[in-house]
Amino acid sequence: MSRGYVPSSRTIPGPDMSFVRLFDDLEAGWQFRGQYAIWTGSAKGERSRYTLLERHGDRVAPMAYEDGSPVFHEIKANVPFIVQGLMSYWVTFNSDAMWLDTPSPEGQYAFLAVGGSAGKPSAATIDWTCTHCGHPISPKGFEVSPLSFKRFLMQADEYAAEFDRSQEMRTCTDCGTIHPAMLAQSREIENRTGETDEA
Ligand SMILES: [Zn+2]
Repeated sequence: MSRGYVPSSRTIPGPDMSFVRLFDDLEAGWQFRGQYAIWTGSAKGERSRYTLLERHGDRVAPMAYEDGSPVFHEIKANVPFIVQGLMSYWVTFNSDAMWLDTPSPEGQYAFLAVGGSAGKPSAATIDWTCTHCGHPISPKGFEVSPLSFKRFLMQADEYAAEFDRSQEMRTCTDCGTIHPAMLAQSREIENRTGETDEA
């Protein structure tokens, strides 16, 4: 079988990652492949542990179907979003991202890919959404190097911890509502799944 002319001195590119491999990989977390930062998550016995929310103006839209149908969604550049169950902050990138949320034999499988174009994302904004009026709270810009996306994630976590500690940072400048601490919220999520050591 001819596969065309392949210069012997060079290797031809292969796929970044096989889909089968992704689905088999039950270890949630970030992986870094070429120009992509890829997060995979798997929820045992639950369909909607991870939900993507987008903010459009002062409205928050869940990217999910009521009947639990799979979701494959392109998060456009400059659209603020949060993956509930994963992130304790809202993030806006200057590049598109892809989101997959599908039922799996275990419960739920979720996938987020950021990047894919040279040098992007190069900038991100972290903020929170006022629970009363939808106004962005405490926005902060970050430079992102695609080759050290991990560093950005650490900086974002640090900023989120700061936000949790400071009631001033959590106060909406538009309506004065105090946003709850997010890490406390994600602990509640853990509680609901029965995965804490409470029992
Ligand atoms: Zn507000």
